[in-house]
Amino acid sequence: MPKTITIKSENFISNLPISWQQQLSQAVSDPDQLLDILNIKPDQFPLFSEANQQFSLKVPHAYINKIQKSNARDPLLLQIMTQSQEMLPSENFHTDPVGDLNANKTPGLLHKYNGRVLLITTGACAVHCRYCFRRHFPYQQQQAGREQWSQAINYIQHDKSIKEVILSGGDPLVLSDKKLDDLVTQLENIPHITRLRIHSRLPVVLPDRITDKLVNTLSSSRFNVCLVIHANHANEITDNEVNALDKLKQAGIHLLNQAVLLKDINHHIDDQVNLSETLFNAGVLPYYLHLLDPVQGAAHFDVKLNDALCLMTQMQNKLPGFLVPRLVREIAGETSKTPANEL
Ligand SMILES: *Cc1c(COP(=O)(O)O)cnc(C)c1O
Ligand code: SF4
Repeated sequence: MPKTITIKSENFISNLPISWQQQLSQAVSDPDQLLDILNIKPDQFPLFSEANQQFSLKVPHAYINKIQKSNARDPLLLQIMTQSQEMLPSENFHTDPVGDLNANKTPGLLHKYNGRVLLITTGACAVHCRYCFRRHFPYQQQQAGREQWSQAINYIQHDKSIKEVILSGGDPLVLSDKKLDDLVTQLENIPHITRLRIHSRLPVVLPDRITDKLVNTLSSSRFNVCLVIHANHANEITDNEVNALDKLKQAGIHLLNQAVLLKDINHHIDDQVNLSETLFNAGVLPYYLHLLDPVQGAAHFDVKLNDALCLMTQMQNKLPGFLVPRLVREIAGETSKTPANEL
């Protein structure tokens, strides 16, 4: 059963349980409305409408509830709020920074690394993260719609070196339980696939998405399943998220986290230590900490390489090795993510 969440509307407060799909459809897309809910004056975020036209704001109430009221510098708010800085031109920041447009094998299928392919199952996300390298990605042409899955599956079938399929997007968990179940079933018919990986921000953006049916689809498949969540800050993980993650954990699904290093959001050592410890308490191991992809509109989030390397040294001094994520950058044309100390 979906949990009961409180939605404040103009005249009444309802406590009806609402499904994750309903919560998704009620996501806030108007910056003024968001600031109003959070009791923040619009003059704290001047000139956001142009940025909003380029890549619209989108955030579900379950995430808004974790943002501190009246705090225009809240680390969760800064990840999702449209800002005028996004429109500043910045040298060396591009619209396809990781070369995805050249890595397509069939529509929506990326095969860049040995043994694993990445399937863009949908262009949609539950939240629009301002730093995202996909903000300029032509999803409509690239995503593997259901008809195109058969082309992707055909490709995977014919390459026995592929052991792992990564469901990505957009966010694969915005697909219905039924669609995901169908896809997993089709992949199960390919004998050389042994690992299924899902990259999703839903467990920390809309934890009610972790339905019993989804958990069952994943745990009953023959695959060794890994879910890589995407939390950038410890405040994203509250009891609701811990409960959702626990269901997955109980079902034997491996849980990892990838984060993006973001100025003013998680670039301080305390933020990173808190994030790693909070993740581990929720059964999740830190996997990657990504240097920001140089995507146009996100330059204000950039942390300099040297500062990032210093941060890693500090983390190594404060945390057990298994709670220190690997600092990496994605570089077009490389055969894996590139460790930052090799840059
Ligand atoms: C990041 C990425 C992967 C996964 O890389 P890992 O190092 O295995 O986590 C796979 N394929 C593509 C196209 C990617 O961008
Ligand atoms: S792909 Fe991931 S990081 Fe990008 S907007 Fe969607 S949820 Fe956010």
